[in-house]
Amino acid sequence: MTNQETIFSKIISREIPADIVYEDDLALAFRDVNPQAPVHILVIPKQPIAKLADAEYGDRDLMGHLLLTVKLIAEQLGLSNGYRVVINNGNDGGQTVDHLHLHILGGRHMKWPPG
Ligand code: IMP
Repeated sequence: MTNQETIFSKIISREIPADIVYEDDLALAFRDVNPQAPVHILVIPKQPIAKLADAEYGDRDLMGHLLLTVKLIAEQLGLSNGYRVVINNGNDGGQTVDHLHLHILGGRHMKWPPG
């Protein structure tokens, strides 16, 4: 875990704007500024875990909450035909923002494998 300030912590604190689609006491979700699909949402914990590899056993309830939040948002946005959930972890994983985030990608058929 880290307390490092990132663009996502500034979105949580409302220092910078975002198109927020969901919020509760543990999580925030907003539209990706550079969408890779017709629907592209980022779901983040308010707690600043830098990446999946930094999550600990004590974070298990939060991690489960994030996944169920993905499901809830997908339902709310009408992604009934399916969607993809992505977590980029670390440098080789393509992670560019050091605050754990789950991508929800939907609104088109996804290809496999990802690049
Ligand atoms: P990563 O590559 O998995 O770390 O994903 C980071 C994502 O954050 C990318 O898809 C970016 O487009 C997105 N992003 C970066 N800055 C912002 C922002 O200020 N608002 C919304 N999305 C952002």
